[in-house]
Amino acid sequence: MAATTGSDRARATLAYLRRKITTGEWPVGGRIPIEPELAEQTGVGRSTVREAVRSLASIGMLETLPGRGTFVRSAAPTSTLLNEFLTDFTLEEILSYRRALEIEAAQQAALHRTDEDIAALERAAIEEVGCTRCPVLGFAGDVDTAFDSRFHRLVFDAAKNRLLAALYAGINDRLRTPEHRGRLANVATGAEMERDHARVLDAIRRQDFIDAVHAMVNHVDHDVVIVNDQHEVIPPLARTPEQQQRINEAQMAQDHVLARAEAQSRL
Ligand SMILES: [Zn+2]
Repeated sequence: MAATTGSDRARATLAYLRRKITTGEWPVGGRIPIEPELAEQTGVGRSTVREAVRSLASIGMLETLPGRGTFVRSAAPTSTLLNEFLTDFTLEEILSYRRALEIEAAQQAALHRTDEDIAALERAAIEEVGCTRCPVLGFAGDVDTAFDSRFHRLVFDAAKNRLLAALYAGINDRLRTPEHRGRLANVATGAEMERDHARVLDAIRRQDFIDAVHAMVNHVDHDVVIVNDQHEVIPPLARTPEQQQRINEAQMAQDHVLARAEAQSRL
């Protein structure tokens, strides 16, 4: 780095680390290199690196866990204000709001996505193959978070609404706090996640916002759910067998359209 003064070096180091996070090179949930390595990469002293890490931690992008290393917590700086605001609400209320954000993002993504968005979503969907579940929250230190919530984050990118994306990042940060961590679970299997993501991606690709909404509704109902002390799932929305049947039928209709489009593309 061509920085000369101490404060230039500090600024350049901060920008370097921040860029690693915002570009996804250091994914959410992943551990960043240790201090001596970063000092080597940036060509500055370890104290300058430490200061930059501390400042990114203060805005919620990094978290240092003693004895375990420093983890990426969020790809965007999140507001402490939002986090404090959310402490007043129950987990049920937060998850319900989170569903609303995901569904609106899917709808907006179908309307505003570019070819680059589709390419990025396709890459993320391929990378997630083999994950045992949708790594949507990317808990720091989880073994399964190598790909963090990239697919979901990219849906928000495609939606082109910065407020939706910022609120989503803030909500996820809130859910990652230790008090909530033990009360949340992923109920979808890896295979279900792949199928759900394929449906969301297909609808966004076809710019069909109606299918995008339905596909996302179906997915977010089981990507993160609340569990009780006996590890039993508390369903986000109680549905009768008849209602579930209608949802399944709508989903089958979309799968039918998808299969027909695939068959046509092969002709
Ligand atoms: Zn997902």
